[in-house]
Amino acid sequence: MSAEPAQKYDFEVGVYRPPSEGGSASLLLRLTRNCPWNRCEFCAMYKTEKFELRSPAEVKGDIDQVADICNRLKDISWKLGYGGSMTREAAIELLNSAPELNYHQGFVMVFNWLQSGAKTAFLQDANSLIMKTDQLVDILQHLRNTFPTLNRVTSYARSKTIAQKKLDELKAIRQAGLDRVHIGLETGDDELLKKIKKGVTSEGHIKGGKKAMQAGFQVSEYWMPGLGGKQMWRNHAINTARVLSEIDPHYIRSRPFYPIAGTPIHEKMSTGKFQLLSADEQLTELKLMMENLDVTSKICFDHAGNYWLNRHGGLLFSQSYEGYTFPEEKSRVLELIDEGLKANNKRPEFLRL
Ligand code: SF4
Repeated sequence: MSAEPAQKYDFEVGVYRPPSEGGSASLLLRLTRNCPWNRCEFCAMYKTEKFELRSPAEVKGDIDQVADICNRLKDISWKLGYGGSMTREAAIELLNSAPELNYHQGFVMVFNWLQSGAKTAFLQDANSLIMKTDQLVDILQHLRNTFPTLNRVTSYARSKTIAQKKLDELKAIRQAGLDRVHIGLETGDDELLKKIKKGVTSEGHIKGGKKAMQAGFQVSEYWMPGLGGKQMWRNHAINTARVLSEIDPHYIRSRPFYPIAGTPIHEKMSTGKFQLLSADEQLTELKLMMENLDVTSKICFDHAGNYWLNRHGGLLFSQSYEGYTFPEEKSRVLELIDEGLKANNKRPEFLRL
């Protein structure tokens, strides 16, 4: 009877990360599990899961395991004559000597990350800044010392959590190596923020966003076209533009709303309390928001939910992670919206209900 191989590699990988950290180019490192707030009415991401902090020792242990895999892959690559490059042959030889990695969801992620130059990392899950500052700093320092090739480390963070930290703490986190925070703004309208149970006011969003900017982070704010439905679209557009103009973040990313089965907002839709915008109504809302937006940010449509087409049947907006530069390209974006409004847009099948 053969003994089970020892589980040497048990580092954790969470499910979610922003698209700009996708394409398997980023190392995903799990600092906490799930979402400490977990009440937003449109969100289904962590609904059945309980929030947990992980200890710095656990997280640093994960970093060490990833480093061990990297070193072994590099050694094998040299031994096989590939000069340290990440090749399929090196991966196969490592899997032969550590077969438990065949069943580890993180192995392919680590391999792809190494193959793409090991340049970026994303800290999971929904709000890493909720960790104690000294613990987060400790983890970041260990990460940066272990992988000097990293040139960008990013994380999700809630506005409220950022607003609650002292500026000096945020600066210490920034200095320890966290470059960018991805913040779910969703809307700048107070009535809608309350309705969706975001747990923050527009003032809180402004405070958190501005403080993150002041601490030296690159700030990436996500908003949701369509979130106000037919009842609240106008105030949603105007107040979102107002709040984002106050913050003036580096990135503003559009994540059009669609109701996910099982969420309270979906429930409201089925009982007629929430009415979804049509494709054209969403574009009209987008136009009003953009007209009122006074920023020096990159405006991004870097997600498949930005489905609108132009009159040739191609995507209306570029889905580049770097988007359109405002104010220079504001008139271009407004022209594109007008073009979309003439193109008889419909919600695609995957967004229909
Ligand atoms: S804070 Fe983010 S992850 Fe948490 S419930 Fe809200 S949208 Fe979902």
